[in-house]
Amino acid sequence: MTKTKTEQASTEKIDVDYYKLLDRLYMALPQKAKESVRFELPTAISIIQGKQTIWKNFVKCGKDLNRDQNLLYKFVMKEISTSSTVVNNQSLVLNGVFDNNKINLILTKFINAYVLCSACKKPDTNITTQNNIKVLKCSACGAVSALPKL
Ligand SMILES: [Zn+2]
Repeated sequence: MTKTKTEQASTEKIDVDYYKLLDRLYMALPQKAKESVRFELPTAISIIQGKQTIWKNFVKCGKDLNRDQNLLYKFVMKEISTSSTVVNNQSLVLNGVFDNNKINLILTKFINAYVLCSACKKPDTNITTQNNIKVLKCSACGAVSALPKL
């Protein structure tokens, strides 16, 4: 009789520990892994006005990609050497005529280089610094890859 009681007690203890462990594992998961929200990659909306091109949702594109606006700005400026200004914290006014395909091509290049994980190609990534080097860290698979310099 006494033996059975002890066995029961130890089984309960294991259960509690097991759930505690599960809780802890769950807590340790990156936030993104818990969310099943689909990550929608943005599309650039742009119009040509006279000799200027207005990338209407420029700021939103950066936000949707969870990337610093300045990083996207620098990238765009490197791709198309022209002068430009962010207007109303919303759109990017570029001097020069660039069709929408061109703008989206640049945005896609940016996404490939600075958003998508190089290992699993998922967009659940963050830019962090490791040994003074900016790297792309993937929340989905844990891969860390070096970022191209701007
Ligand atoms: Zn990954």
